[in-house]
Amino acid sequence: MPCTLCSWRTYDAHLFDIDGTLLNTRDGVHYNSFHKALREVYGCEARIDNVPVHGNTDIGILRAALEHHRPSEKGDFEAKLPRALDMMCAEVERNAGQMKPALCCGIAALLESLHGEGKLLGVVTGNLERIGWRKLERAGIRQYFDFGSFSDRQEKREDIFRSGIEIARQLRGPDIRICFFGDTPADIRAAAQLGVPLIAVATGIYTCEQLGEHAPELCVTSVEKLLGSPEGV
Ligand SMILES: [Mg+2]
Repeated sequence: MPCTLCSWRTYDAHLFDIDGTLLNTRDGVHYNSFHKALREVYGCEARIDNVPVHGNTDIGILRAALEHHRPSEKGDFEAKLPRALDMMCAEVERNAGQMKPALCCGIAALLESLHGEGKLLGVVTGNLERIGWRKLERAGIRQYFDFGSFSDRQEKREDIFRSGIEIARQLRGPDIRICFFGDTPADIRAAAQLGVPLIAVATGIYTCEQLGEHAPELCVTSVEKLLGSPEGV
């Protein structure tokens, strides 16, 4: 069955990207943790401002920032990566009190509704695990989620989504019907490669028109549109 404004709720598991989909953060805590790791682990003043971050993963952002800053030196990235990731997580945890995530429009009501129906809820995100959970805690929505698939061991978004599917099937059986929620073309591409429907939301930096060019199953300006559909309540 195609995913439509009327049928999206029939899925058994709903797996959400975090940034731009569930919430947005403008406090700089996560952002600054990249620069601390780049400076203290890799010894360079690279910034992440000139590399693609939306739809990217934390490891992918680190790698791109280093390659942009010093394209001829690639040798030590992998060897130093565990220390860099641990430093990022520790930095975010140390500054967690400054995090001020803002929930995207309609998310609180959507999660409460799906959770109340006993749906399986997960996050599939390019965030590192400790950072992703901390954002959800600070946003007050951690309690809704049964599991997460993060970027700690998976640099590609497609692999993160694939792991999310595998975990959902382990928890609820192989025939579970799954849909994703995401806010970037990278999310749409990853879901399409795995043959799973994705509901695109224009609550990040991309408009519905821009997301629609990548042919998601469904695209809405926010999840509030889903809750507002006649059969969606
Ligand atoms: Mg996102």
